[in-house]
Amino acid sequence: MSVETQKETLGFQTEVKQLLHLMIHSLYSNKEIFLRELISNASDAVDKLRFEALAKPELLEGGAELKIRVSFDKEAKTVTLEDNGIGMSREEAITHLGTIAKSGTSEFLKNMTGDQKKDSHLIGQFGVGFYSAFIVADKVDVFTRRAGLAAGEGVHWSSQGEGDFEIATIDKAERGTRIVLHLKAGEDEFADGWRLRNIIKKYSDHIALPIELPKEAASEAEEQPAEQEWETVNRASALWTRPRSEVKDEEYQEFYKHVGHDFENPLSWSHNKVEGKLEYTSLLYVPGRAPFDLYQREAPRGLKLYVQRVFIMDQADEFLPLYLRFIKGVVDSNDLSLNISREILQKDPVIDSMKSALTKRVLDMLEKLAKNDAEQYKTFWKNFGQVLKEGPAEDFANKDKIAGLLRFASTAGSEGEQEVGLADYIARMKEGQDKIYYLSGESYAQVKNSPHLEVFRKKGIEVLLLTDRIDEWLMSYLTEFDGKSFVDVARGDLDLGSLDSEEDKKAQEEVAKAKEGLTERLKSALGEQVAEVRVSHRLTDSPAILAIGEQDLGMQMRQILEASGQKVPESKPIFEFNPAHPLIERLDAEQDEDRFGDLTHILFDQAALAAGDSLKDPAAYVQRLNKLLVEMSA
Ligand code: ADP
Ligand code: MG
Repeated sequence: MSVETQKETLGFQTEVKQLLHLMIHSLYSNKEIFLRELISNASDAVDKLRFEALAKPELLEGGAELKIRVSFDKEAKTVTLEDNGIGMSREEAITHLGTIAKSGTSEFLKNMTGDQKKDSHLIGQFGVGFYSAFIVADKVDVFTRRAGLAAGEGVHWSSQGEGDFEIATIDKAERGTRIVLHLKAGEDEFADGWRLRNIIKKYSDHIALPIELPKEAASEAEEQPAEQEWETVNRASALWTRPRSEVKDEEYQEFYKHVGHDFENPLSWSHNKVEGKLEYTSLLYVPGRAPFDLYQREAPRGLKLYVQRVFIMDQADEFLPLYLRFIKGVVDSNDLSLNISREILQKDPVIDSMKSALTKRVLDMLEKLAKNDAEQYKTFWKNFGQVLKEGPAEDFANKDKIAGLLRFASTAGSEGEQEVGLADYIARMKEGQDKIYYLSGESYAQVKNSPHLEVFRKKGIEVLLLTDRIDEWLMSYLTEFDGKSFVDVARGDLDLGSLDSEEDKKAQEEVAKAKEGLTERLKSALGEQVAEVRVSHRLTDSPAILAIGEQDLGMQMRQILEASGQKVPESKPIFEFNPAHPLIERLDAEQDEDRFGDLTHILFDQAALAAGDSLKDPAAYVQRLNKLLVEMSA
C-alpha cells in the first residue's frame, strides 16, 4: 500500500445521495449493467486521451497501446477495471465522482415516487453511469492519475456509497484509472472469468478498443504462467466502420446505449457511409424516450464527432438543427482537420453541407418509421412530436417533409389522440374539398365541442384539432401541404368553396339580405366590441359565434404573448349569428331596445366563453343573465 496524504472526507451532493439510494434499491433486476457503464466510461477516457495527445503527444508517456483490463479475485470478492485513458486529477475526481452536473437534476429527482418499478424506469431516463458500481459493490476504490501530472499526484477515491467519500493523494506510476469493486455479499458471481466475458460480449463488444481479461489455464492441470497473460474478449473495432450487413441489431442497440448514455433501446437508427466530394460515416439514432431535460436550454445535445476514427468532441451540435436535438449518434469525417475546434466548426462550410445531408437522413428515417411501424411512430410522436413541431419555423427547406411527419388530433380520429397525418387527411377529403381545415384552442375538451365545428359535422368534413401551445405558432409557418392550403375554421369569412352548392350560396345571400335590419340592430347594440356583425353559415345548433379577423392574432398566441408580459395589438372579433336559431328569432321580435341590448350582450359573452376566451366584464354578464332569469320566473 502506498502512502496516502492530504486525506479528507467529503459529502456527496444531495442529488447524488438520492440517486445512489434509488439505484441501489430499484435497479436490482439487471445488475450486470454496472460493467457496461464502467467500460463505457473507460472508453470515453481513452477517447479523451487520444484527442488531447494530438496536440500533446507527451501525454501518452510512452504507452500508446490503449486498452481496458478487467480482472477479478474470487477470494477477495473483487472485480477490477483498469484503463490507461485520461485519468482524473484530485479536483476532477471530487467533481465528477461526487456531483451531478446536469441542470434540472433536483427537480427530476423530486418526481421519484418510491415505487421501485416506476422509479427504475425514471432512472433510465436519467442515465446511471459511474454510480451504478454501487448496485453490486458495497465499497468502491478508484485509483486514478490525470495524464500529464506527476506520479506523485495520483488520487485514491473511496466510498461505501452512503453519503460520503474519502479522497487522498497517492503515488500512481501509470496514468489512467483503476476501479476496484468490493462485491456485496451475494454478488460474488461477478468475480468469475466466464461471467465477465459474457457480460462484456453482450454489452461492450462494440467498444473500439481492446477489453482484456486474464487468460485462464485451459485445464486444472495446466500451470498458470509466472506472468499473467491477457486476451482480448471484444471485437475492438469501431462499430460504425463496419459494413451495415455485418452488424447485428443487438450490436447497434448496445452501441446506442454507450453513445446515447441511455438505458433502453433506441426506436430506430440509420447507418450510412458517404463517399465522393465529402467523405464521412454517420450512425444516427432515434431514442426510445425523451430525456428528462429535453426542454432545458443547456441540456446536452448533438453528436459525437470523430475525425478519421479519432474522437474529437462530444455534443457537436453543429450537425443537426435544433428541432432534431433529440437525435443521438456518431459522425466520423475524413475531411475535417484533426485539430478542428468548436469555433471552426461553426464557420466551416463543409459542416453546412454535412448538416443538410444529415438532417435529410433523419427525416427519411422518421418517414420510414412512420410508414413501417405505426406503433413505434406513435411512441416517437409522444416523446418528440412537440420538438419536431419547431421544425417548419427553423428549417424552411424541409418544411414539407416535416409537415408530412406531423400528427394531429382530428374530428375523425380517436378521442384526442394525435395520430392523423396530413397525407391521411388528404386521402379522406370529401369530393370537392380542396382545403385542410383546422381549429386550434386551449384543450381538446374545449375544441371538440366548439360551435365552429357545427357546419363541418353537418357536412361530414374532417377538421384537425390543434391544442398544443406551439400549434398556432406552427400554423403560422405552414400555409399549404401537397397543394392544399390550411384554413383556420375560426377565422375570417369561412368559404367552403365548392363544398357549398350554388343553391347554398344563393340561399345564404338571401338570408343575409333578409336579416339586414337585425344585423344593423345588433351592430349598434354591440358597438365598439365587434369589428363586424353578419349572418353565419357555420352554425347549425348554436345561436352565435365569434370569428377571428383574417389578419388578427389567434387566441392561443394572444394568451401566450399576454402571459409573457408583451403588449398585444388590439383586435375585435366578428359576431356571427344563426338566424334559424329560436333565440335569434326571439331577439329579432324583441321590441324593447333595453332588453334587446341585454340579450345581445349575453349572446356575445356566451360566444366568447364557447370559444374558450375569458370575459372582459364577467360581473356584468352574470347581472344580465340573472335579470333575465328573474323575469322568466316572474
Ligand atoms: P457520464 O459518463 O454520462 O459523463 P458517469 O457517471 O458515467 O457519467 O461518469 C461521470 C464522470 O466521471 C465522467 O464524465 C468522467 O468525467 C468521470 N469518469 C468516470 N470514469 C472515468 C474513467 N475511467 N476515467 C476518467 N474519468 C472518468
Ligand atoms: Mg458514463
